[in-house]
Amino acid sequence: MTGIRPICDYEDSDYRTRFWEGQGRDYEDAAERIAIRRLLPPTGDLLLDLGAGYGRLADLYGGYRRVVLFDYSRSQLTHARSRLGDARFVYVAGDFYRLPFPPGLFDSVVQVRVIHHAVDAPAVFHQVRRVLRPVGLYLLEYANKQNLKAILRHLLRRQTWSPFDHEPVEFVELNYNFHPAWIRKQLASGGFCPGRTLTVSHFRIEMLKRRVPIRWLVTLDRWAQHTGGWWQFTPSVFVRSRATADGPTAADGAFLACPACCTPLPTPTVLQGLPPADGDLVCSGCGRSWPVRDGVYDFKA
Ligand SMILES: [Zn+2]
Repeated sequence: MTGIRPICDYEDSDYRTRFWEGQGRDYEDAAERIAIRRLLPPTGDLLLDLGAGYGRLADLYGGYRRVVLFDYSRSQLTHARSRLGDARFVYVAGDFYRLPFPPGLFDSVVQVRVIHHAVDAPAVFHQVRRVLRPVGLYLLEYANKQNLKAILRHLLRRQTWSPFDHEPVEFVELNYNFHPAWIRKQLASGGFCPGRTLTVSHFRIEMLKRRVPIRWLVTLDRWAQHTGGWWQFTPSVFVRSRATADGPTAADGAFLACPACCTPLPTPTVLQGLPPADGDLVCSGCGRSWPVRDGVYDFKA
């Protein structure tokens, strides 16, 4: 169903405990939160966290009326739901090349630590633009190939690729680093006006993280993030874009659409203030049925 594009799958992975909790990434987590608070308006209507995983950043969306946590991994979403409940959050599993939403639905999309798994980033940008309302906000984090460590390794001839070359580099299977100029060019040709840029995790150096108190590094990073408007040499970059002013806005009550044929699907019970009912959403256009299990709307099949 995903065509020829492979998807990085975190199904049943221990991503939360293996990568984040107690794994020495408190500095990165804090620095990313600072950047998101700076770039994302504190209040809004309908927000999509695209590649939300177990909902690590969900507490930053407190001012949004409703939040969709979207991920390829059902198990990550099930974990998110056990923590966050159904009052404001909706859990949707699927792949980011075929988002199961109608055009012009969201006023904001946030995507952090996700696009580096995309073999076809412009196709993801196209999908994000499709589901955003006119002048909707897209907050994107990407892994930057033009980072200081890569530049040093390049100068010492310890790596085969150049950090200054604009094309994406796949450094591990399904893990891509991007050049800032390439990302901005792709965003612009995908229907976005790229705007404010912050550089993040300036001090992601193991020796520093071991010897300097994390709160000092976070304080320094808070200040240094502003230099992202001038140059980008950090491993992580955040860019806030606006969708262009053209295109439709979704009708009132529209929410899910069949990812195979784009026909609107029945309104989920969570939007009526009821708990999500297990069962199937049947598409009246193509006849496919999409399961709802344990409160997760599942478009992976
Ligand atoms: Zn359909």
